[in-house]
Amino acid sequence: RNYRSRTECRGDINRLNAPFLAIYESLIPAEEEKQKQKQLMALLDKHVKEEWPGARLFLYGSCANSFGFRKSDIDVCLAIGDADINKSEILLKLADILKSDNLENVQALTRARVPIVKLMDPVTGISCDICVNNLLAVINTKLLRDYSKIDVRLRQLAFIVKHWAKSRGVNETYQGTLSSYAYVLMCIHFLQQRSPSILPCLQDMEITYSVNVDNVKCSFFDQVEKLQGFGSRNGESIAQLVWAFFNYWAYCHDYANDVISIRTGSIVSKRAKDWTRRIGNDRHLICIEDPFEVSHDLGRVVDKRSIRVLREEFERAAEIMQHDPNPCVKLFEPY
Ligand code: ATP
Ligand code: MG
Repeated sequence: RNYRSRTECRGDINRLNAPFLAIYESLIPAEEEKQKQKQLMALLDKHVKEEWPGARLFLYGSCANSFGFRKSDIDVCLAIGDADINKSEILLKLADILKSDNLENVQALTRARVPIVKLMDPVTGISCDICVNNLLAVINTKLLRDYSKIDVRLRQLAFIVKHWAKSRGVNETYQGTLSSYAYVLMCIHFLQQRSPSILPCLQDMEITYSVNVDNVKCSFFDQVEKLQGFGSRNGESIAQLVWAFFNYWAYCHDYANDVISIRTGSIVSKRAKDWTRRIGNDRHLICIEDPFEVSHDLGRVVDKRSIRVLREEFERAAEIMQHDPNPCVKLFEPY
């Protein structure tokens, strides 16, 4: 299925390429930030190995999936082989160990939905959240990073969409809008659906990478260097894609029936997933399938009020992209 747009794109769209690319460039982290992250990881690793020699630390989330802005906090996962461990105990212990070093604001939040230790490293200035055994997040981080290596337009589009969402206040899961992770999945799906497609469906290709995590089989094609130039048959510019992305979510997505799925590279029906009615707090008003936890809808945080907010914001963005003389300013105006 190809996405059709409601309207023909404005004729002068390509004059927006340069300003969008400038915004993208301004958000990319500097190389020295990566060095500082490595430095902090090495310090954490030393402490962890002293206490748990078999454990490993992984970066995940935006600091590792290539969709992170400059000066972001980092997300770290402590992988301890034993599945039966008591996470709270580990986190309390970890907090104790780290407090004895020069780290600041070390706090164990054992009752959070994802329990973590938070801290700030005064040497590098980096804040960091450490969780335990959240390995699916480590794997979906790899999947996102691998997608980003195939065509630079994914990273460009996702940066602009995330920047828009943060500016407009629709990147707050506790307020019923979507996570950054959900927005990146929307961008990947969108680029899989262009005609010709700009991204392939890595989970629907020869398996070159496979792991079992928490009883979920995660497998996909990860030799993405072989996919260089995959999207080059499609010559759409970043401005055209931003325009089409908002046009799709404003006017073309079938919110009543469709689930977007990067796992299949396509749309699946809500009926097939039994996501047609509210069960408990899961309402399925906008449906975004997790690539590995397929029963997991990233849109489940969205409620009756926030779906209105989201759709109004998509429409606002689409109208600006179509008519505004200066979209690169208007799009990101604080709400
Ligand atoms: P930001 O730049 O806004 O911090 P982020 O990429 O770190 O963006 P988050 O939404 O904070 O995004 O999520 C961090 C990571 O946690 C994601 O990259 C993903 O690996 C994982 N994650 C977040 N939400 C979910 C979810 N609902 N299901 C599965 N994994 C998730
Ligand atoms: Mg994050």
